[in-house]
Amino acid sequence: MSKINVAVLGATGSVGQRFIQLLENHPYFQVTHLCASENSAGKTYADIMKKRWKISGDIPKYARDIIITLPDPKITQGVKLAFSGLDASIAGEVETAFAEAGIHIISNSKNHRMVENVPLLSAEVNANHLDVLSTQKTPGKIVTNSNCTIMGVTISLKPLYEKFGIESVMLFSMQAISGAGYPGVPTMDILGNVVPFIGGEEDKAEIEPLKCLGRTEGGKIINADFKISAHCNRVPVFDGHTVCVSVKFKKKPTESEILEAWSSFKGEPQELKLPLAPDFPILYRQEEDRPQPRLDLETGRGMTTVVGRLRPDPILDWKYVVLSHNTVRGAAGAAILNAELMYRKNLL
Ligand code: NAP
Repeated sequence: MSKINVAVLGATGSVGQRFIQLLENHPYFQVTHLCASENSAGKTYADIMKKRWKISGDIPKYARDIIITLPDPKITQGVKLAFSGLDASIAGEVETAFAEAGIHIISNSKNHRMVENVPLLSAEVNANHLDVLSTQKTPGKIVTNSNCTIMGVTISLKPLYEKFGIESVMLFSMQAISGAGYPGVPTMDILGNVVPFIGGEEDKAEIEPLKCLGRTEGGKIINADFKISAHCNRVPVFDGHTVCVSVKFKKKPTESEILEAWSSFKGEPQELKLPLAPDFPILYRQEEDRPQPRLDLETGRGMTTVVGRLRPDPILDWKYVVLSHNTVRGAAGAAILNAELMYRKNLL
């Protein structure tokens, strides 16, 4: 199969940089257009990013000389798919304009996530939600990623929900500063500190897993029917969201049943051997003090959800800790995996 031309919208941001890094030498996608705001448009990517590139390794050669443009589908001729890491203030209208112009969108922004015929896609969790795309009226289709905090949580819940049913979930997040974008949280607010508020985050954490774990019916996605209570906190960690999760099950499993459900969990990305699919979507760490962002973040090239500390919960049934890479598994990596799945299903 030949490569298809893609654009990265919001290419200069935290998520955008990850797209640029992860799309280097991609076997299915060729980046031809990079888009950002009028502050960046007209300059080369290397020029704009010389002080803003914040991830390890150099800016990939293929992207350095591309002239940044505004995110306008009239400019991105020849592009079939756009990965969006746009700020939410602009993402809604721009992504709709691209879809109307026949360019498929895979978005990291919140704007279209809860529309009932827009998949909130996590490739291992709900590949069947792509079925609702045929009910979208625009020639380009919109697919979204979930919020980065709940991406790993939802992956960890998926095999448990399927096998044992879930009644309720409590979660407490410790979220990295890169999750707030660039330049994000001021140093004096976060260094040596914890901020127990992230605007809008708890609302997303309490609803988005329910859509991801939902079922499709008549071209719509019907949410899963349990309740989630979320506490979201910003902590002075650069990358990697850690979440403590407690679960009440419909049919309480044993410890070994939970561990077996996690270790045997695989999805279509693994079956199809998609380029960015980790061998195992979930890895359980046996050590009593893991997972930790510094030690475990790069597991499976940042695409594996690392869980640990499974133990009885005296109020609900079981509790554990989840770590996932917010700009890889929680954003650009998950979006690329979604696009790989769509490519292999001839949906692009
Ligand atoms: P960011 O670092 O602030 O980057 C935002 C991007 O949007 C930049 O490229 C910026 O371009 C562009 N932009 C802003 N206003 C624009 C406008 N009026 N017209 C065109 N482009 C505009 O944000 P981020 O952290 O990458 O997040 C991007 C999106 O992904 C957000 O919706 C966020 O909620 C979501 N998300 C983030 C994470 C994460 O871990 N960071 C994870 C999952 C989802 P300029 O540089 O030219 O201003």
